[in-house]
Order: sequence, then C-alpha cells, then structure tokens
Amino acid sequence: MSSVMSQSMKNVQNIPTELGSQLPVNEIFVSVQGEGRFSGYPALFIRFNYCNLGCSWCDTRYTWDPKKIESDKLMTVFEIAKIAHQKAKAFSCEIESFHIVLTGGEPMLFAHHLPALIDELHKVGFVFTEIETNGLFVPTDELIEKVSWWNCSPKLSNNGMSIDENLSEEAIYKLVATEQADFKFVVSNEADIDEMMANYGQLIPTEMIMLMPEGITESRQRMNMPFVIEQCFKHGFRFSPRLHILAFGNERER
Ligand code: SF4
Repeated sequence: MSSVMSQSMKNVQNIPTELGSQLPVNEIFVSVQGEGRFSGYPALFIRFNYCNLGCSWCDTRYTWDPKKIESDKLMTVFEIAKIAHQKAKAFSCEIESFHIVLTGGEPMLFAHHLPALIDELHKVGFVFTEIETNGLFVPTDELIEKVSWWNCSPKLSNNGMSIDENLSEEAIYKLVATEQADFKFVVSNEADIDEMMANYGQLIPTEMIMLMPEGITESRQRMNMPFVIEQCFKHGFRFSPRLHILAFGNERER
C-alpha cells in the first residue's frame, strides 16, 4: 500500500500483509451496473476482499467482516483477466460493451496492482474501467491515466463513524481534479444532507454530486426514494438508483 494514503484504517488490521503479486478476489461476475451515471450498462464486476472502513449498513460485509468473510481467492492480474474474459465471452455481446467495475470492499487498498490489472484487461478486449471507492485513498497519476471513471462514495456519519474517519480532503481534491468522477452519497434524512453540505459542499462541485437512498432492501429503497429525489431537485444534485437492490433484493453475484 505504499503508493496510497488513507486516514481511516478501521479494518485494515485484518488485511493480509504478504499477498505478493496476488490480489484477494471475492467474486468475478457479469451483471448490470446498478449505481451511478453508468447505471444500466453491462458490467463485469471484479470484487476484492477487505475494506479500511466498516460501515454499519454495508451491503458487502462478506468482503471484510471477520465473522462473514469468505476465504480469499488469491489471484494474479493475469488470472483475473483470463476469468473476466471467460465470463464476458459467455454472453453474446461484444467484450468491449462490458464496463469493468473494480469494487469491493475497497479496491484502492490494492491500488499498486490496479494499473497492471487494467493493462491485462485491455489486452483481452475490455476498454472501459470504473473504480468504486470510498474516497479515502489518493490515486497515483499512473492509475488516474488508466481509469475511465471514478465512482466515489464518500461516507457520512450515518455509517457509524466520525467525519475524521470518513473524509480525506486530499483524496477528494485529487478525484475531483480528474474531472472523471461522480461522488455518490447514501442519505435518508435532512441531517444527512446537512452533514454532506457542511463537510463536502466546498470540496465537490454540485454537478459531480449524486444522492442515493439508504437501504439494503427493496422496501427501504422505495420508502427513501421520494425524499432523496426531492432533495436532488432542491439542491441541484443528481439521483442515483440502486438497481441491484430493486431488481434482485441484494442477492449475491447479481
Ligand atoms: S466503505 Fe463500502 S465496502 Fe467498506 S464498509 Fe463501507 S460500504 Fe462496505
């Protein structure tokens, strides 16, 4: 982790230190991008284990919670690209139609491997790579040059942690400067909006902000959506659905 910085490392003690040239993969699967500006695009998800946070409402606890984490599949970038290619080839659309989505957990824990991984994915035919990150890691220029889009989800204290644990101004500045990023906030009430405006409002341009309803069940999504849409109109933000939850109820690999 030498090329990245993070303020909050709540769960980092669980991350194996001797991974060598391998990455801890949780799952690789084809689905539809369910959040952010590329919602609806066919997507090949590569999900890594481990996270430096530990949000109370996390819907992927199986990537980092010691009680729920599954054994790692340690893979090289070559093995990951080969499996990604095989999974995408099983569908009839062209490989380049799939967006690669590097997700977790927190994929930026392994940022030093990601340029090589993206290179390998390009070699097998993928062209567009999104990274989903909690915004606590400062990306290197090399990685910025290779990533097509950053889906950053900075956290608010509704995740059970303080703003000091949730916010890295340095990382947010660098991601904003890429001009290839959206910042998605999970909200459910006006206190969340106020906290977001107070801490991130001066850092992130309005047009780069999206609001997403809190909730990992379909019923909770439906309950929160009208309020979140209303807040988007009020503040000039964009609304992001959470299509996976609405379509599949948070099922794995969907
Ligand atoms: S940052 Fe993301 S993956 Fe990590 S605990 Fe929070 S919601 Fe889960």
